[in-house]
Amino acid sequence: MAKLHLLSLDLRALEDALADLVANLGEPRFRARQIQEWIFRHLAGGETAFRQMTNLPKKLIEKLEESAEISVLQVKLRQDSIDGTRKWAFETHDGHVFETVMIPSENRRSICVSSQVGCAMGCTFCRTATMGFIRNLTLGEILEQVHFVSRFLREEDGSRLSNVIFMGMGEPLHNLENVAAACGVLNAEDGFGIGKSHITVSTSGVVPKIREWAERAPDFKLAISLNGSNDAMRSSLMPVNRRWNIENLLAAADEYIHLTGQKLTFEYILIQGKTCTPEAARELRRIASQRNCKINLIPLNRGEDPALQPPSEEEIRAFEAVLRQGDFEVLRRRPRGPDILAACGQLAIPLKKVA
Ligand code: SF4
Repeated sequence: MAKLHLLSLDLRALEDALADLVANLGEPRFRARQIQEWIFRHLAGGETAFRQMTNLPKKLIEKLEESAEISVLQVKLRQDSIDGTRKWAFETHDGHVFETVMIPSENRRSICVSSQVGCAMGCTFCRTATMGFIRNLTLGEILEQVHFVSRFLREEDGSRLSNVIFMGMGEPLHNLENVAAACGVLNAEDGFGIGKSHITVSTSGVVPKIREWAERAPDFKLAISLNGSNDAMRSSLMPVNRRWNIENLLAAADEYIHLTGQKLTFEYILIQGKTCTPEAARELRRIASQRNCKINLIPLNRGEDPALQPPSEEEIRAFEAVLRQGDFEVLRRRPRGPDILAACGQLAIPLKKVA
């Protein structure tokens, strides 16, 4: 009989499953709560995970080992950047491989979570797009990335994961059910206990799903990859813009801001001679000035296409100077982990399936 993947359950289903399990063994119900706490708060890694639950009776541990599992992903590779960023390649039970990145900074530990294996969106600056879309990750596969990295940090230096960003492989709003359920478990006190304002979902601009997300998960943070200040520019980089142009996208953004009362983040990739020009800066300033938002500038990390190059430092500064004349926040994201291809737009596994 297949074992039950405990992380594939939302919290209510997990509580029920554990309650059934302890009841079948004639154990008191509080044992279910103890197991749940162990899963999210204390577990270190390894095969013998259940055996670390030292306050449980032996027969309950044996039953857990027999009928349930916490990990279904295999680590294929770990890469360490000179700047402290780590990247893992995980293999799923059906042989697909995807990546997860942990980015440390002075007072934060952030994880860039994948929501899909590959991606269908075809953004020209992104290596993930070269994989095509393979499949959505399950709730359990999404949560296991966070579980794994939390355990890793705890064992490495006792630190805690502070931020979760759905900006690894994939378009999270194309896997909305599982991403919304994952956000619930990440935030819940009896789950990972990470604050809603520390959990961000980043979309390429799937307009109808932005409205749905605003209704489903209004308290989590949303970022939209704008990456172009006019339709010609954006369509040349992001095929999604041919389906929903900037006007449609901004209407959805405004509706999101109105429905949720949240400040929105627009991500904007800086590409020499394309998105990073004085005219584009003025257009972007006009867009941002009209709404409650902030701009995250992301200098291009080199990918497959030699025609796409990052701008010089002077060009970036000039672009920023134009934006800073507006009444909105502007941040520049420093590339993290480019030496291990862990930076924005660099995640890709060359093989769709491991032989
Ligand atoms: S940038 Fe995001 S949405 Fe676009 S292809 Fe890459 S992973 Fe997909």
